[in-house]
Amino acid sequence: MSEPIVIVGGGLAAGTAAVELREAGHDGYVVLLAAEDHVPYERPPLSKGYLLGEKPADATHVQPREWYDEHGIDLRTGTSALAVDLEAKSVATDDGPVRFGKLLIATGARARRLPLESTDALDVLYLRSMEESTTLHERLGEGHHLLVVGGGWIGMEVAATARQLGTTVTVVEPAEQPMLAALGAEVAARFAEVHRGHGVDLRTGTSVERLDGANAVLTDGSSVSPDTVLVGVGAVPNEELARDAGLEVDNGVVVDAGLRSSHPDVYAAGDVARAVHPLLGEKIRVEHWQNAISQGKAAAHALLGEDVSYEDLPYFFTDQYDLGMEFFGHVPDGSVVRVEPGDSDTSFAAWWLRGDDPVAAMHVNQWDRSDELRDRVRQTWAT
Ligand code: FAD
Repeated sequence: MSEPIVIVGGGLAAGTAAVELREAGHDGYVVLLAAEDHVPYERPPLSKGYLLGEKPADATHVQPREWYDEHGIDLRTGTSALAVDLEAKSVATDDGPVRFGKLLIATGARARRLPLESTDALDVLYLRSMEESTTLHERLGEGHHLLVVGGGWIGMEVAATARQLGTTVTVVEPAEQPMLAALGAEVAARFAEVHRGHGVDLRTGTSVERLDGANAVLTDGSSVSPDTVLVGVGAVPNEELARDAGLEVDNGVVVDAGLRSSHPDVYAAGDVARAVHPLLGEKIRVEHWQNAISQGKAAAHALLGEDVSYEDLPYFFTDQYDLGMEFFGHVPDGSVVRVEPGDSDTSFAAWWLRGDDPVAAMHVNQWDRSDELRDRVRQTWAT
């Protein structure tokens, strides 16, 4: 009989790995330890369709609960892995130890916190879980003023959804543009214009210094009086379980191109994994939806003893208002952005060039170009 496979984490990477194990024909014992009280689910709708109230919770599930029963996956929701003993090859839980032959760590990431405490008059919220999205949704709408701290992906997606629900929205971002690090000044400025056009009070070059009663005092000396503060300032990997077990950890669980950690029977995938990327020639940790799916699948094959080399290039998407965007590739320092105009301000492409070679590309609302962009970027990295 094959040794048990234990998967820790109840997100997209964990759920996808479990599904792939069965699809690959593995019929051995699989345990999935998921800290949240939900079956594994996808998070992108938490700032978009689910937050808007258009997409139901069960549409975010990787598989419905029955699937895990029907496929003999021992899914234990509401169960955290407390510690991993690499010598005994077991995972401690409140219900006792769970033995493993192979272990997959897919514990994801959590919202980065700011030292901003809620006041009696003002709640400070974060957005990572279904419950947090539900709480935020219940507040949004006409007559409510939301202050978004951080003009990154999640902050700007929440701003868009909140505006669509009629909420008054102020966004503060310390950089000169929202999403600047990811998009570069020219493309980021276009996104900024779209948000301003939809009525967002977007204040760049400033941030919240402190909350004072019902006021948020900004670093530029001005203040805002919102009803709710939503902080979206990035995520940090849930790497403590691996680190405490003695695995190599450095901004994520360090794994090779086969997603294997510093212990031969332990793998990592998704937001928590920092993997050697054979094409990019460096270790990267990717906090995006597609990576959680593809690494979850690849990890399943690695757990089954297959030779795996994970070489997918980073990919992500965002939806803000009627603006859908896809981004392919990786942007090394010194790359130059070239914007390729389209039919309108909300339809264009952009290339990140190293010399003449595209190292990354994105399109906005040019959905028939996905394959072309992906292939051209891949060609650069593959040669
Ligand atoms: P997670 O989804 O973080 O799941 C990890 C799970 O492990 C969690 O349920 C956690 O509770 C559990 N866990 C942690 N520690 C333990 C433990 N010790 N024991 C048991 N369980 C544990 N990406 C895009 O590409 N496009 C988007 O538009 C986009 N939108 C997003 C919007 C929001 C609001 C958020 C939060 C993320 C978004 N992302 C998006 C990112 C994407 O959702 C993540 O990359 C993806 O969720 C990563 O999946 P994961 O399984 O690695 O980790």
